[in-house]
Amino acid sequence: MIKFLDLKRINKQYEVEFQKSFKNFLCSGSYVLGNEVTKFEEEFALYCGTKYCKGISNGLDALQLIFEGYKTLGVLKEGDEVIVPANTYIATVLSVSNTGLIPVLAEPDIKTYNLDPKEVEKIITKRTKAILGVHLYGSLYNVSALETIVKKYNLLLIEDAAQAHGAVNIDGRKAGNVSNAAAFSFYPTKNLGALGDAGAVTTNDGALASVITRMRHYGRTSSYENDIKGHNCRLDEIQAAFLRVKLKYLDTNNNKRRYIARRYFDSIKNKNIKIPSYKDFNQHVFHLFVIRSEKRNVLKDYLYSVGIESFIHYPVPVHKQLAYKEYKDFNFPITEQIHNEVLSLPLNPMMKDVEITRVIDAVNAFSSI
Ligand SMILES: *Cc1c(COP(=O)(O)O)cnc(C)c1O
Repeated sequence: MIKFLDLKRINKQYEVEFQKSFKNFLCSGSYVLGNEVTKFEEEFALYCGTKYCKGISNGLDALQLIFEGYKTLGVLKEGDEVIVPANTYIATVLSVSNTGLIPVLAEPDIKTYNLDPKEVEKIITKRTKAILGVHLYGSLYNVSALETIVKKYNLLLIEDAAQAHGAVNIDGRKAGNVSNAAAFSFYPTKNLGALGDAGAVTTNDGALASVITRMRHYGRTSSYENDIKGHNCRLDEIQAAFLRVKLKYLDTNNNKRRYIARRYFDSIKNKNIKIPSYKDFNQHVFHLFVIRSEKRNVLKDYLYSVGIESFIHYPVPVHKQLAYKEYKDFNFPITEQIHNEVLSLPLNPMMKDVEITRVIDAVNAFSSI
């Protein structure tokens, strides 16, 4: 069986370095917000090209601290509208509603699966105060078009970069540095994955970085003083140590992902299957390789029967989830088509050439009748 993602195989290769990191960590005696978190923040800010990086407990908390931070700074207030893509993972939308803001869902562009700037502009109102863009599946949103819109309407642009560590825009800026503030997740399955929960905020906004530093740590300004009502959303010290090991290999691993994606693009030819086209591979880090088929469920079962595991990202759109029953009568035909047709093929840096070939051959041999 070709697994969709074998996390043990992904992490086993770093075992010796992880053990060395663990030993240093154990002997440091400093288990929360120690040297490893500080060093990781410096290294990841340098990697993304931002002035600041703040280690946070996970990706959802990172997004929420950005919104709470901007509320504390008086830039956002309760009830402000934030535009989000309707086809994203539910965590994106939760970060908005959990912080007292109103998520306004936007239809994506079916060719890129990312926000369609024309659709975004259509739903801007006087209450719109921010756009939360997602680099879905590892592909950057349309940076220049969204930047033009936020300038024109004086909005914040926030990035959900949970799937796009290392993606580079045509102007050389990386994911994490193409907005006012970005949230990363280092959940184990992500391109840069910890061995547990972890996340970060990157930004060039010094005031935001400062308020998030306090907010992740009870709102503390010093040991005995708290100037805002905060949380406990700190990045774990041991996860920071593991992330420092894996950050060194992120570009190599992303290039392996691009190589596999290139092979899929060049060799998958089946009239029942649609493959999105990408002009610039640097803008994509292929967190997921997502194809579409009207016969998606048949295709998934067929692949499994020939020993290939695939996944659906995501089968149920946010507006059809019970958690968001207030949206249940909304009509998002493009989003619903995406959720009905998408299928993610196995793609990870540990895949062998024979496995890639087996996936290609199996997909090409699929016939829907
Ligand atoms: C993984 C993910 C998140 C949430 O990150 P966690 O670390 O699991 O909280 C948010 N948005 C997107 C697009 C994700 O893929």
